[in-house]
Amino acid sequence: MSRIAFIGLGNMGAPMAQNLIKAGHSLRVFDLSKDALDKLAAAGATPADSAHASVQDAEVVISMLPASKHVESLYLGDKGLLSVIPDGALVIDCSTIAAQSAVTVAAAAKARGLTMLDAPVSGGTGGAIAGTLTFIVGGPQDAFERARPVLQNMGKNIFHAGDAGAGQTAKICNNMLLGILMAGTSEAIALGVANGLDPKVLSDIIAKSSGRNWATELYNPYPGVMENAPASKEYAGGFGTDLMLKDLGLAAEAALHTRSSIPLGELARNLYSLHSASGQGGKDFSSIIQMLLKK
Ligand code: NAD
Repeated sequence: MSRIAFIGLGNMGAPMAQNLIKAGHSLRVFDLSKDALDKLAAAGATPADSAHASVQDAEVVISMLPASKHVESLYLGDKGLLSVIPDGALVIDCSTIAAQSAVTVAAAAKARGLTMLDAPVSGGTGGAIAGTLTFIVGGPQDAFERARPVLQNMGKNIFHAGDAGAGQTAKICNNMLLGILMAGTSEAIALGVANGLDPKVLSDIIAKSSGRNWATELYNPYPGVMENAPASKEYAGGFGTDLMLKDLGLAAEAALHTRSSIPLGELARNLYSLHSASGQGGKDFSSIIQMLLKK
């Protein structure tokens, strides 16, 4: 069992850290939110006063933060976390960030003599709670093998996508598709409801027909169709609209970089952007259906 520092205890980080505790690891945790820290302390972790304090004696450091700027400001710079992480510790960033940012931080870690992996996840808060996440890892093969037993305590499918940054690239390809699928599923259900169909009956039909997808199977956007989906909890928790918007922005950046065409990804980005601008950025991304339902 390992001594693990875990930084970022939000919708995803908190249940991931709890699964590591359940697996018998010793966790020292940090988050800017005191509520988040208290919750993990109650689950058996040792709360730290700062990110720097959380990594003392750590064999593995895991971070789960919102975006590139949070990861870069945590690790980089003269007083960044990389300067105090113990020699030999393995650093694993599970946040979804720009591939270029992951490459930059991994290079800084290497310059300090540390190995860092980008290991973004898929599977949502349900997967984080159940310990069935998919990890999409970029970095050296030997570090990937070292990380695998720890990641297996939080996830079911662990993929090695390639070198540093490759995990992030694969992750944003997946999330661009997810954003498109959720917008499309919402559009189909809204159309059915406007034409007199019961949303649950229509969802059951789609879930067993050729239009089925992750949203219709596990994450239906219409309130009340799936008891545990964010749609049935007023779109609280889950995966925020602004986080989806961030991922679609990362996809757009990657497309620009390689002159790739992503017409549907760009359209989805604009839809989530409009939704966010109308004040819905903090709600789960499946609330995009509210833009499409007739009032
Ligand atoms: P969240 O906003 O719920 O949690 C982020 C946490 O990080 C917050 O508790 C915040 O206080 C903390 N934080 C921010 N800066 C910090 C710092 N400098 N030091 C310590 N703590 C800090 O976000 P989330 O939903 O948990 O998502 C985290 C990452 O996982 C994002 O990159 C997101 O894109 C990705 N992701 C989310 C989901 C999902 O369904 N929510 C699924 C897959 C991937």
